Amino acid sequence: MDVIVVGAGPAGVLAALRAAELGARTFLVTRGQFGGMAANDGPVPVRTLAHAARLLRDARQLGRYGIAISEPVLEYPRLLARVREVVDDVRRHSTLREHVDRLGVTLHEQAGTARFVDPHTIETGNGLRLRADRIILCAGGLSRRLPVPGGEFAATHSDAWSLTAVPRSMLVLGGGATGVQVASIFNAFGCRVQLFHAGPRILPTEDEDVSAAVAAAFRESDIVVRENFGAVESFEKTAGGVRMIFSSDGVRDSAEVALAVVAIGWVADTADMNLAAVGVECGDRGFVRVDPYLRTSAPHVFAAGDITGRLMLVPQAIHDGFVAGTNAVRGATTRRGDDVSPIGSFTDPEYAQVGLTEAQARKTHDVVVAVVRFDETTRTIIDGRSFGFCKLIADRATAKILGCHVVGERAVEIVQTVAIAMAAGLRVEQLAEIPLSFPTYAGMIGRAAYRAATQLNRELDWRAHGGEP
Ligand SMILES: Cc1cc2nc3c(=O)[nH]c(=O)nc-3n(C[C@H](O)[C@H](O)[C@H](O)COP(=O)(O)OP(=O)(O)OC[C@H]3O[C@@H](n4cnc5c(N)ncnc54)[C@H](O)[C@@H]3O)c2cc1C
Repeated sequence: MDVIVVGAGPAGVLAALRAAELGARTFLVTRGQFGGMAANDGPVPVRTLAHAARLLRDARQLGRYGIAISEPVLEYPRLLARVREVVDDVRRHSTLREHVDRLGVTLHEQAGTARFVDPHTIETGNGLRLRADRIILCAGGLSRRLPVPGGEFAATHSDAWSLTAVPRSMLVLGGGATGVQVASIFNAFGCRVQLFHAGPRILPTEDEDVSAAVAAAFRESDIVVRENFGAVESFEKTAGGVRMIFSSDGVRDSAEVALAVVAIGWVADTADMNLAAVGVECGDRGFVRVDPYLRTSAPHVFAAGDITGRLMLVPQAIHDGFVAGTNAVRGATTRRGDDVSPIGSFTDPEYAQVGLTEAQARKTHDVVVAVVRFDETTRTIIDGRSFGFCKLIADRATAKILGCHVVGERAVEIVQTVAIAMAAGLRVEQLAEIPLSFPTYAGMIGRAAYRAATQLNRELDWRAHGGEP
């Protein structure tokens, strides 16, 4: 059997590896470089810049620990060189490239945009024609542009990474995961940042306490957070940058900055693929419709990753790729899972979640909520990182964990521990009894679980709850 996979991001790479492993002659075709947005334009460059922001933060703490240095100075072009170095390194060493070669997948990089010419044949921008029994679409997504006059004067997150200098001022439109990361990173680099969000709270998919804590911390660090700001009417080019004109309740206002970054969500990268001609149905924003086996409405075409518009994260893209690769070769045998999905962002402060928010949990369960503040655990006090909290939500009837929400240093790592506990189906008292190392950030999970178990009158072994007394 022949399989073509379109797009070499995490979904496409896994789909191709799996199809090849199951014995299919497999072709992996991608417009640009191997690794997709994940390696080249998303988490890897963002995390590198966020790491630089963290180093600046850490350097500013040195005086408190008796280490004298002068004020750190950021040389942005050198940081960008480091970002390029990291992206290259990741692409070469951690994107499974060697596996692809070893399993005999035929890779066509820099092939241009692939489109269907008939139900089993695709043609790429550089003239390559390939025919196969099964085709797996893993073309990912693109930043949504704002369809207003002058929308072309606003940048996207990708433009923000390729700046040659830190702009004096920036407005970020959209307070979701991408917008807050751009805002936080450039604020740390000394840019005056305004964050505009149309709804009542930034991070609308996070627990309400998380949104409030991140917004408060942003304001404390001089980011101007404008929630419920109204609606954008247009952008205009100015001598020093760009002006955004917006209105609220009929009242017009404007903000002028060196750079405006629009981060208002994603559309699928499907517009040029000629999908309608082969009977592949798309829904809202062009995302490909799939069933739980990742089959599209054309029986021989599968789709995986961001192109389906689900959680739009690397682990889910990897999982999808495996499922689509399996089903393309073996037939519909494996279902896409609804696994535990931890989510977080590398802002200052970090935030992360897994499971239900408190409001969601209260709608469907009788719950207990245990909160541990960062200023009451040993490691956070040692490290001088005592801002934040960890909220654990459990079901009163079963004592199983329903959700966890953390704001503060290493929030993303802390939540991974809870994700594992949830996937294993642990009850809060079982989690509390695991002797997590002391003094650690993850240790606060033990204390939160202990508090939840106490509220549930669960019998506990006193010896261990995160090592925290
Ligand atoms: C700023 C930012 C930060 C992020 N941070 C995180 C994070 O911290 N953690 C996390 O898990 N996720 C993060 N993500 C999301 C993550 O990058 C995506 O979920 C992931 O890359 C999706 O993988 P994919 O394989 O579906 O698509 P992609 O990685 O987008 O790969 C798709 C590939 O297909 C190619 N392509 C598109 N159309 C065609 C065509 N017609 N023909 C040929 N090739 C085509 C594209 O050029 C691309 O290379 C972030 C994203 C952004 C933008």
